Amino acid sequence: MKCHICNGSTLTFKNKPETITYHWCRSCAYIFKSPSCYQPIEDQKSRYDLHENDPHDEGYRAYFQRFLDFVLPHVGTDVSHALDFGCGRSTLLATMLQDRGIACDAYDPIYHPSDDYTKKRYDLIVSTEVFEHLHQPKLIFAELVSRLTPGGSLAIQTQFHPNDPEQFLSWYYHKDPTHIVFFTAKTFQVLAQMHGCEMVAQNGKNMVIFKKKGELLS
Ligand SMILES: [Zn+2]
Repeated sequence: MKCHICNGSTLTFKNKPETITYHWCRSCAYIFKSPSCYQPIEDQKSRYDLHENDPHDEGYRAYFQRFLDFVLPHVGTDVSHALDFGCGRSTLLATMLQDRGIACDAYDPIYHPSDDYTKKRYDLIVSTEVFEHLHQPKLIFAELVSRLTPGGSLAIQTQFHPNDPEQFLSWYYHKDPTHIVFFTAKTFQVLAQMHGCEMVAQNGKNMVIFKKKGELLS
């Protein structure tokens, strides 16, 4: 099967005894489960309903604080409109941005399904623990970049995989059945180049920030 990001050739490996097939692109390091494993959104919802994301939980707040501590120094000071894409049930991250004077919309296909965001442009889009669930991450990446103002920033959090089949199979992150696609900084570098973005920072672990290149005035 060709890579769904760069169209390069993939190698396959399986986990046993579940026999899920994984496709591993040697060019961009994208790994994706066989599309036959992808679940309809109703089945995913029953699992997401179990997530206990209590906005009053200090640990949950600290988790987003670590993300913002990494992201905000890279996005500049003239950020006024943001979007939390795939926020889940809670709008805590949007609230934390609003507390910093940044108006923030929250979108989630299950819990906050208004598509108003598709009519707007944003200086900053954040998306935490979303990309590993996407059936078509390249399309969503392109969609989010198209919603950025020139010079706007896109910040993504998803665990980077070890880029080695043996280590991958003992890694916890792919064992969640709703986690179907996996990235490294290299994969995101390739996505950035395809979509007119610059990857301005990544932490080698789970966070990456892109800036949309400015549009030249004619
Ligand atoms: Zn690839």
